[in-house]
Amino acid sequence: MRIDILTIFPGMFEGPFSYSIVKRALEKKLVEIHLHDIRDYATDKHRRVDDYPFGGGAGMVMMIEPVERCLDALKLERAYDEIIYMSPDGERLDQPMVNNLSTRSNLILLCGHYKGVDERIREHLITREVSAGDYVLSGGELPAAILTDAVVRLIPGVLGDETSALTDSFQDQLLSPPVYTRPSDYKGWKVPEILLSGHDRKIAEWRHEQAVMRTKKRRPDML
Ligand code: SAH
Repeated sequence: MRIDILTIFPGMFEGPFSYSIVKRALEKKLVEIHLHDIRDYATDKHRRVDDYPFGGGAGMVMMIEPVERCLDALKLERAYDEIIYMSPDGERLDQPMVNNLSTRSNLILLCGHYKGVDERIREHLITREVSAGDYVLSGGELPAAILTDAVVRLIPGVLGDETSALTDSFQDQLLSPPVYTRPSDYKGWKVPEILLSGHDRKIAEWRHEQAVMRTKKRRPDML
C-alpha cells in the first residue's frame, strides 16, 4: 500500500510515523508513506499557498493551483483509489471505513489549514471527505495521521499475532474486554480468578461476556 500526504507542515508527521507499529510497517516495506509539501508546488517566489477569502471575512483560504499541481504530478505516476480531503464536515472516520480503506493500494490524503481549502478543490479534485470527529482542529495533519495509523495496522503482516487487530474494539461489533498483567494482586486489587485458571475455553467465554457487558453499558448503540 502507498499513502501520499499533501500538507504545508510535513514535519508534523515525523513523530507519529517514527514509532511503534507504523514505524515497523515502514521498515518492513508493507506501506510506503510519501509526504508532499504543498509549498513546493506554489507558483510564486514566496511559495504562497493561501489567499484572502472572496467576499471578505476572517481567515485565509488554501488556493487551488498548488494543490492541483501536486495532485497532477502524483496522478501522472499512478492511479489512486481515493483522494481524500480531511474535513470536519466529511464522513466520520470509523472502523468499517478504516477496514475498507486498508484494502486499497494507493491513497492520497489532503490536509487543509486556515479556513480550509477553496471549495472548487472539494468539488473537482477529490473523491472523498473524511472527518476525525465533531470538533475543529487547526489542520488536517492530525486527522491524516490518525487515518494512516488506523489503516496501516490492518495491512496483513503489520501486526504480529500477539496484537491481532481482530480482537480490538469495533472489529466484532463489541468493545474489548478488560485486560490485566502482573502482579496478580496489587495492594489487594486482584485480577479476576478465571484469568489465572489456565482454562482457555472458560477464559474465552469470560472475555466474550465481559465484552458484551461493556458494550451494553458503554455503547448500547453498537448492539
Ligand atoms: N472552517 C472549517 C474548519 C477549518 S479547520 C470548518 O468550519 O469546517 C482547518 C483544516 O483542518 C481543515 O481544512 C481540515 O483539513 C482540518 N480539520 C479540522 N478539523 C478536522 C476534523 N475534525 N477532521 C478532519 N480534518 C479536520
